[in-house]
Amino acid sequence: MTLHPRSNPSTLEAIPVLDLKAQYLSIREEIKSAIEKVLESQHFILGPEVENLEREIAAYVDSGFGVGVASGTDALILALRTCDIGPGDEVLCPSFTFIATADAVSLLGGKPVFVDIDPKTFTIDPSKIERAVSPRTKAIIPVHLYGQPADMDPIMSIARKHSLRVIEDCAQAIGAAYRGRKVGTFGDLGCFSFFPSKNLGGCGDGGMVITTSEALAKRIQSLRNHGAVKKYFTEEQGWNSRLDEIQAAILRVKLRHLDKWTAARRERAVRYDALLNKIPGLETPPVIPTGAHVFHQYTIRVPKRAHVQTLLADAGIASAVYYPTPIHLQPIYRSFGYEPGDLPETEKAANEVLSLPIYPELTEAQMQRVAHAIADAFRS
Ligand SMILES: *Cc1c(COP(=O)(O)O)cnc(C)c1O
Repeated sequence: MTLHPRSNPSTLEAIPVLDLKAQYLSIREEIKSAIEKVLESQHFILGPEVENLEREIAAYVDSGFGVGVASGTDALILALRTCDIGPGDEVLCPSFTFIATADAVSLLGGKPVFVDIDPKTFTIDPSKIERAVSPRTKAIIPVHLYGQPADMDPIMSIARKHSLRVIEDCAQAIGAAYRGRKVGTFGDLGCFSFFPSKNLGGCGDGGMVITTSEALAKRIQSLRNHGAVKKYFTEEQGWNSRLDEIQAAILRVKLRHLDKWTAARRERAVRYDALLNKIPGLETPPVIPTGAHVFHQYTIRVPKRAHVQTLLADAGIASAVYYPTPIHLQPIYRSFGYEPGDLPETEKAANEVLSLPIYPELTEAQMQRVAHAIADAFRS
């Protein structure tokens, strides 16, 4: 390792896992004038900002239509609804993901069926999907976890073979690509989250569904607005899941910076790799050759994680575990009868993963400190 001499940690500022304030300060005037414009217009719901953002995101990922919704969770629920997922339907998804991936299925009365992950990529293992297919299986939700694209070629061919719908959970992966094509454009629908900590995050909740099907887009536009097909005329049960104009205006400002921020995340991942890859026992995040990772998280595997995390905290360095309890072992799905050992790679990852601070504004000196602290923790 080529590390600079260390400084006394007690005199140093804490390093957070994500520094949203630093990002805000770099675009403060743009954000303020975007908000101001909406305030002056007094048009807050389903106006030009949402429409423009929908077009811009659809163009950004090279798809046909975008529909702004209230959150990433609602994007998944609405996407599943337009695929007519309901009671009795099974949907294949990873267990190693945020709970929303699965509970969008169960909220509609469907049954999430959990498939183990590929230990090298943390995404759903295509070689284990087919054995989980039953006559009731209707769809697959691949999750592009941490910003790394799932292995879409085999996933799509299994889906075609068994006539399954594919809904991509892109909440952590806006801009990530697989064989040169952006995620969200492989399946029937792609779901994005604008939760503040995501790579493209608003100042509140928000989400979007993208699709190349005009019919599906129209149905989601209706469902997000109480199922109305025109004003005060309702065809099917929907609810209020609209994205608001202020969020859309803020997101449009941030979208202009997204590629630059993604490039900065990638540079920091490369730098971390160089700083950390000589530490025996530590595994840096693998990057699949077919994919372009956007490093929503920089996630390493460490044995004795609790120990490492404590020593990092002592050195003023925050770290996080996404996610400590796999979904198949969560109390909510107890009645499904899963037991520890059912998804060994998922359970192993849940015990070993540790996400380090990564964001576009993270400095070289901060990365050096993180690397020092990890090297120390591994020695002790
Ligand atoms: C954040 C996230 C969601 C949910 O998005 P919200 O906007 O918080 O509702 C869904 N899936 C994954 C993988 C996520 O990381």
